[in-house]
Amino acid sequence: MNITIIGPPGGGKGTYSTRISDKYGIPHIATGDIFRSEVDEQSELGKKIEKYLEKGELVPDEIVNKVVRKRISEPDCKKGFVLDGYPRTFPQAKALEEMAELDLVINLDVSEEVIIERLSNRRICKSCGKIYNLKSLPPEKEGVCDQCGGELYQRPDDEPEVIRNRLKEYKKRTQPIIDFYREKGIVEDIVFKEERPIEDAMKDIHAAIGKIN
Ligand code: AMP
Repeated sequence: MNITIIGPPGGGKGTYSTRISDKYGIPHIATGDIFRSEVDEQSELGKKIEKYLEKGELVPDEIVNKVVRKRISEPDCKKGFVLDGYPRTFPQAKALEEMAELDLVINLDVSEEVIIERLSNRRICKSCGKIYNLKSLPPEKEGVCDQCGGELYQRPDDEPEVIRNRLKEYKKRTQPIIDFYREKGIVEDIVFKEERPIEDAMKDIHAAIGKIN
């Protein structure tokens, strides 16, 4: 079961891919999470990619492809995986074809108003990575993770100007790869014209996965 979730920043890639990973027992591979932790650790890779993340620009394809190739070749990916935030460019989609065959592309089709509303209210746990939304999914206690008691923070690239840059990048680079997968007949669109409860959208996602299972 090889799945990727594609969607704009704030589209819910993290939320939905985590749920898919839990429910179907396949690893969740989020390139953004991998890169953020490399930056936090100030590893050699982290230092190289820091400037891209800060500005909301895409990390060069060769670097991203190398990271994903290595991760996908690990034993836990044998029965499948859910990619989150990859591929984001045409060369990445081509590189992925050499690594594995995708069964399903979940396209989160989210209106711009919903994105802005979500990102400005998004908070993330520093310790366990759980994602909250101050309006639709608030923590019980302000600033504290319900799950582990960790501190909640706002991603620096969720600032309005950086959001606009990330959305521009998305439209330019990522939209064409959805068309590429559409031609292969493996895309399922999950549409959010306005905000929807997570469980409601999950029903559509389960139905899409049911078709390939
Ligand atoms: P995300 O958490 O998916 O929004 O990713 C955060 C940032 O990590 C992006 O703004 C990019 O700078 C970088 N990034 C994550 N995935 C990719 C990718 N597939 N290709 C290039 N850059 C990426």
